[in-house]
Amino acid sequence: MTGITIALSKGRIFDETLPLLAAAGIVPTENPETSRKLIIETNQPDVRVVIVRATDVPTYVQYGAADIGVAGKDVLIEHGGEGLYAPLDLKIAKCRMMVAIPEGFDYQNAVRQGNRLKVASKYIKTAREHFAAKGVHVDLIKLYGSMELAPLAGLADAIVDLVSTGGTLKANKLVACEHIMDISSRLVVNQAALKVKRETLQPIIDAFARAVEK
Ligand code: ATP
Ligand code: MG
Repeated sequence: MTGITIALSKGRIFDETLPLLAAAGIVPTENPETSRKLIIETNQPDVRVVIVRATDVPTYVQYGAADIGVAGKDVLIEHGGEGLYAPLDLKIAKCRMMVAIPEGFDYQNAVRQGNRLKVASKYIKTAREHFAAKGVHVDLIKLYGSMELAPLAGLADAIVDLVSTGGTLKANKLVACEHIMDISSRLVVNQAALKVKRETLQPIIDAFARAVEK
């Protein structure tokens, strides 16, 4: 079996990976936005795309249900990365991991005073490491979405979330107050598949690498 399965999430990852796939001569025959199919064929008979949640991409690739995939650095940090080889920064789906607070909250002062902060996030591992490195005491609250609501509803003093334009923060009267890291998406490859299917996989990886450098 030399068939290749590529795990992608729909939305920006799928859209921004299309030009890279095209550079490798791979064109999906359907758009997951309009098709309800979770397995999408491509112009290459031996290449298919599976559509999974962004946070599930590393899992599919780790267990070999997909040979390669595209996942954000945010997702990869939380997942860990065992069994995964991440050879390429694809420089797509770029944003920043930030600490954000309600307008008017004196975060720096609270930190200086050594106050214990309640921080809500989908990115518990990233948040824990960030505040531990700063020596700030935090109670972390795990959320799965709509982080912006947490400070407004009184669930948390601050959030750790991805920010691109800042529009969502602004609409909810929040401001970013600390930059944690720049985020972009990476190509992830199943380590065993890379050995067994190198003849098929390596040209795809190389084509992606050349397309990223353009
Ligand atoms: P879902 O929306 O299904 O809950 P998700 O939010 O993880 O899942 P996307 O919004 O498609 O899925 O985000 C996928 C990846 O794109 C994220 O893991 C992150 O790396 C990146 N990303 C998230 N938000 C932005 C943004 N505003 N601008 C650019 N890239 C982003
Ligand atoms: Mg999202």
